[in-house]
Amino acid sequence: MSPNIVRHVDRPPIVSARGLVREYAFGDTTVRALDGVDLDLPGGRFVSIIGPSGAGKSTLLHILGALDQPTSGTITVDGVSLTDLDDTAASEFRRRRVGFIFQFFNLVPTMSAWENVALPRLLDNQSLRKAKPEAIALLERVGLGDRVDHRPSELSGGQMQRVAIARSLIMDPAILLADEPTGNLDSRTGQDVLQLLGDLAHDRPDRLVVMVTHDNNAAAATDHVITVRDGRVLSR
Ligand code: ADP
Repeated sequence: MSPNIVRHVDRPPIVSARGLVREYAFGDTTVRALDGVDLDLPGGRFVSIIGPSGAGKSTLLHILGALDQPTSGTITVDGVSLTDLDDTAASEFRRRRVGFIFQFFNLVPTMSAWENVALPRLLDNQSLRKAKPEAIALLERVGLGDRVDHRPSELSGGQMQRVAIARSLIMDPAILLADEPTGNLDSRTGQDVLQLLGDLAHDRPDRLVVMVTHDNNAAAATDHVITVRDGRVLSR
């Protein structure tokens, strides 16, 4: 066994899930969006979740990000048991331990790139100004050191997604959750964003990047592909 593999096995997983079930009441029936999912995902990895529409990908991503709770089963993320969190603790967990990246970037149009990146600090009761040097360093990290004062409308789609990625990093989260991050980008720009997400995962053994996509080409850029169908993990 190579030293790499030994280190990888010794590392506690960032995500550990057992028997995750999520049911939704729908009229008189119950929809089982997740039907017994087990997962162990270590840090330092860029992982994709693929599957057809309705497979349960978003439900799984929402549970990983403490945006939703399973009906049954257990899930720990970065050592925290998410089923034990009340609403306040879940919101603090999301703010401090999770970075979210969306298909449509979700930037504040009236704020500059650096202000958008620093915004999670403001929402965590810190001053925007104090976070400025770090926001600028993160923009440099994602290749936008020359765009720190630009507003979203003055940036390309790929640049806006890079700002959103820098924003997702400002709280130094253990897990980055990306929902179709290349869905609104041309394929070349999308490949650059995938490369960046992979680098961010590989830079840090204590950070996991998880991407939901229905695009097999995007999934091919990841270290590990998890296929979900009918609420179950088919391959991992
Ligand atoms: P995907 O992201 O793979 O397209 P989802 O996780 O959004 O799939 O949905 C999985 C299943 O759960 C689907 O059958 C969907 O219709 C159902 N579902 C998702 N959210 C709800 C909800 N809030 N109420 C009822 N059913 C839902």
